[in-house]
Amino acid sequence: MSEENIVTCKCCPVFCRIRPGQKGACLRYENYNGEVRRTIPLVRYDAIKEVAIDNDQPITNHELQPEITGIGSGTTYPDYKRAPFIVQYEESGVEVVTVVSEVPLSYCGMEIKLDTDEYIGEECAKVYSEGVQVGFVAQEQYGSKMLSLGGINLIKEKKSGLKTVLLMEAIANREKVEVQIERGAHLEFRVGEAPVINGKKIQKMRVGCGSAAMALFAYPFREAADEVIVIDSDLTAIYTEHPVGKDLASGFSGIHLKFRRSSPGRYFGDDGEGWGGTSIQNPVDVISYIENIQDKEGMTILITEATGERSALFQVQRGKLIEIPLTPQASRAVQLIQENCEPSRVSALFIGGAGGSARVGVASKPLKFTEAVHQGKVKMTSGGAPVFIYPGGGITYLVDVEKIMKGSFGWIPTPAIVAPIEYTMPLDLYLELGGFADSIVPLKELRDPVVFYQKP
Ligand code: SF4
Repeated sequence: MSEENIVTCKCCPVFCRIRPGQKGACLRYENYNGEVRRTIPLVRYDAIKEVAIDNDQPITNHELQPEITGIGSGTTYPDYKRAPFIVQYEESGVEVVTVVSEVPLSYCGMEIKLDTDEYIGEECAKVYSEGVQVGFVAQEQYGSKMLSLGGINLIKEKKSGLKTVLLMEAIANREKVEVQIERGAHLEFRVGEAPVINGKKIQKMRVGCGSAAMALFAYPFREAADEVIVIDSDLTAIYTEHPVGKDLASGFSGIHLKFRRSSPGRYFGDDGEGWGGTSIQNPVDVISYIENIQDKEGMTILITEATGERSALFQVQRGKLIEIPLTPQASRAVQLIQENCEPSRVSALFIGGAGGSARVGVASKPLKFTEAVHQGKVKMTSGGAPVFIYPGGGITYLVDVEKIMKGSFGWIPTPAIVAPIEYTMPLDLYLELGGFADSIVPLKELRDPVVFYQKP
């Protein structure tokens, strides 16, 4: 193979030397007839806007929607070079500019939300992929377990960096992945689908905590049994002691729970692999004692999880609790819980730090540009999807990966994630911010397919 037929990709600091017909390490650039070109063409916003916005939400502020996305637009490196596409067009009588690029982001991470009350491990426990740490268990949110993945300190580690980036890229592109929690669960998941925890596919997200369930099902619970206990790792609740039951029931049942009391009828649960994500394996074990049980012959107690997946009915018989079949009223209450639970699913937010050199190819006044982004004068999107920009300094943004076309994220071996970014603003503002007037191309001059070719 002659050296002349090999081309050097300069779209990132790796500088792959690519043979004819072959692709570089990241698979995003190829040697096509002796030129380096992006393997997919530029994606127009019209082609993906159904993904980028909620279908039932009208497009507002239309003049600031990008006409093209960063997907397939290519990357320029080093960053002093101009962004690959800077296009101008007219919207509602205003001249608008959109600047797009596929930006390598070494400063990036992900927040993963798993809708489940199943125990996955302690908060701050490490998350492993292929034997290396890629993140940690973050603070639990309402009805969901959270993972925090990536971040520059893991990405720059020799052992974990590339694996962390590859895992995040796979998650963002909605591929199936597996991770292991330190002293905790094995997780298999794909964004948009139900998680599989220790081999068990999670069907339902809980309807609320145990205390919320008391309010949500106040009347059905009154009919279901003499007492209702909802076991939940956050707040386990008992009906006749709870403020709801105080109003609606005929008096406290005398049942005391083993958990620490938060307020009347509300008890802080523990964590484990039992009912409601607690350590309770046998539902009656949630009860510490019953006052004067010998006087409570026939009393019924419905115990359920906040998903309604597991439930059991007990009756006091000769001073003991005996499990009996669910009555129609108890079944109805449990069924109502089940019907009102949302399906369990996995979601992911990508966090990117674009406040560094990624601004340089956009405009020549980086501080003014950052301020304009924060002020909302410049609209920032990622693959056409709306982003949330963290307050304070820099341009650190969050984006829901499900609002971006599948497969839009890439990686490079430096290591870093490559994410599509668009900045859209009125032309006069762009020029005020030090925009590159001599690089602006009228949108109508772009003829599909628009393919990025590396400039010599
Ligand atoms: S890793 Fe990708 S972007 Fe970087 S030089 Fe190789 S082909 Fe180009």
